[in-house]
Amino acid sequence: MTGRLALVTGGTTGIGAAICKDLKEAGYKVAATYVSNGEAAQQFERETGVKTYKWDVTSPEACAKGVEKVCGDFGGPVEILINNAGIIRDGMMHKMAIENWDAVIATDLSACFYMSRTVIGGMREKGFGRIVNISSVNGQLGQIGQTNYSAAKAGILGFTKALARESASKGITVNAVAPGYTDTAMLKGVPEDVLKSLIAQIPVHRLVSPEEIAHAVLFLVSDKSGSITGETLSVNGGYHME
Ligand code: NDP
Repeated sequence: MTGRLALVTGGTTGIGAAICKDLKEAGYKVAATYVSNGEAAQQFERETGVKTYKWDVTSPEACAKGVEKVCGDFGGPVEILINNAGIIRDGMMHKMAIENWDAVIATDLSACFYMSRTVIGGMREKGFGRIVNISSVNGQLGQIGQTNYSAAKAGILGFTKALARESASKGITVNAVAPGYTDTAMLKGVPEDVLKSLIAQIPVHRLVSPEEIAHAVLFLVSDKSGSITGETLSVNGGYHME
């Protein structure tokens, strides 16, 4: 039982929910955030006992207030941060609305900065911390209709390495997990024929499961993973090999 406090943004559905469940099972204290789907959050809290918090991670003020509340409730600093909240707003460049660019950069990239900035002081003081940022295979490869999302998810990889370097001497590791196509609500909008042709290109011939992403995150946040930092762990069924 580790007893460390872990905070997972977007932790009430999909990949985030799987991460929360695994963390809880492994003995961590877990807090999960969400922004709009209160029904899913309530059901998740009932089923798992993981405490949920509503705030918008694109607001630095909301992040600071939210983290303060979590720390107060659990009686200690956040030792493990999983920057998982993310959205897609796809569109070809020549048709992409400015607000869809801004929303994806704010949610998928700037929020990692706001959340990390809020917790990093406590981690430095404690001499221990684990930050895992959820990137994407489409940040590694680029994807048609996703200049916004690919830019944000690639940005996460640079952010991860820079923060890893500046935090290493304080016992803090910062890593990224890059999921491939994963079986969550995020894929619901993808037409069936497109999904079929994507799956045909994945060497394991199936989507990744949220639990497989959670497994990678659990490995990286372990006390025993203190020498792994600035890395990107790809979990994509062999779709992209570095
Ligand atoms: P989901 O849509 O199931 O989960 C997204 C979560 O993020 C939800 O809990 C949502 O809250 C939360 N969220 C969205 N915007 C905000 C915001 N502004 N403030 C706070 N929380 C917010 O998607 P996935 O589980 O699939 O995605 C999780 C992560 O994995 C994302 O970063 C995604 O980009 C990444 N990823 C997913 C892949 C996939 O194929 N599914 C592939 C590669 C990466 P609410 O429910 O309240 O809206």
